[in-house]
Amino acid sequence: MNDPMDFDTLAVRAGQQRSPFGEHSEALYLTSSFVFASAAQAAARFSGEETGFVYSRFSNPTVAAFQDRLAALEGGEACVATASGMSAILATAMALMKSGEHVVSSSSIFGATVQLFTSVLAKFGIETTFVDGTDPEAWRAAVRPTTRLLFLETPSNPLTEVADIAALAAVARDAGAVLAVDNCFCTPALQQPIALGADLVIHSATKYLDGQGRVIGGAVVGRRDLVMDAIFPFLRTAGPSLSPFNAWVILKGLETLKIRMEAQSERALALARWLESHSAIERVYYPGLPSHPQHALAMRQQRAGGAIVSFDVKGGREAAWRVVDATRMISITANLGDTKSTITHPATTTHGRISADARARAGIGEGLLRVAVGLESLGDLEADLKRGLG
Ligand SMILES: *Cc1c(COP(=O)(O)O)cnc(C)c1O
Repeated sequence: MNDPMDFDTLAVRAGQQRSPFGEHSEALYLTSSFVFASAAQAAARFSGEETGFVYSRFSNPTVAAFQDRLAALEGGEACVATASGMSAILATAMALMKSGEHVVSSSSIFGATVQLFTSVLAKFGIETTFVDGTDPEAWRAAVRPTTRLLFLETPSNPLTEVADIAALAAVARDAGAVLAVDNCFCTPALQQPIALGADLVIHSATKYLDGQGRVIGGAVVGRRDLVMDAIFPFLRTAGPSLSPFNAWVILKGLETLKIRMEAQSERALALARWLESHSAIERVYYPGLPSHPQHALAMRQQRAGGAIVSFDVKGGREAAWRVVDATRMISITANLGDTKSTITHPATTTHGRISADARARAGIGEGLLRVAVGLESLGDLEADLKRGLG
């Protein structure tokens, strides 16, 4: 595949290398190691003089197919797969940073990522400053001479705040730091951070890349020097690599990524409009709505609003829980990125471990609900939510 191809084509074709059997669908190589023709070849493979597979902690043909396809979709030079989204973030930080260095991160990021920065990395002398993701000047002001990494998620969870990737890429450039964007909510089907100046894109492949709630996985995509010379050696040594089986599942998930993201975004927008017009709802958070504070930026930066809709129910926790408990179809679970819609009450689940004060400051109220919209019909989704809204 020498000519540049379109996203749709790359999603189903990129990264495939057929075996001598000529299989049409991508092969699943369930093997922990690879055999060599001779002692000399074994030595050459181990030293890196000869390219080829050695051991599936280092690399595997099915994992490589997933990596190549995701790199093509993100427009990145290189990609490494990881055991989970969290290990993608851990590997990035451990590979690029050392004790005494500093991270600037958006405060509205995945809960486990906050924990990773504040308890795990802090133990090794890496300090993190959290800033308002939507305010580039706050990022600039937080930069220190030791700042090595700028970390961001956009849109954020659960309030769907949108950060300006190009503006933050400029801050990172001036700081001599690396900008890493967790592209979980949009995926490359809706947003390509590298084209906007990000150095690295991080994925929880567990979410939309798989898209059907089956396996755990992750990936880092971006500059070859960062990915191959720093992060890959860390993974190879430390070991949080992706299993070939999970890679195969996610690789096949990528084939339908764009049509899923478009269909789920379309339902999410319609649901957000309906919720906004409902008298029991105080406020709706969805980047595709004109009422969203960063609507214009979102429409510039993203091809659609994504599939996450959050909303404040009038009446606080009691009213919000009533909506959750009245559902008969939507799954009550904190996961997202599935074809099955899910509903969660962030204040008592995903954000339950932080103090009530910190939650209030983050804008996560007791009446807030988050729906990750799947592929069910809009009518059935509305009917399921309507029951508890009274
Ligand atoms: C789920 C998630 C992660 C962590 O991914 P895992 O695959 O669960 O380890 C990181 N970032 C975001 C935005 C997520 O939603």
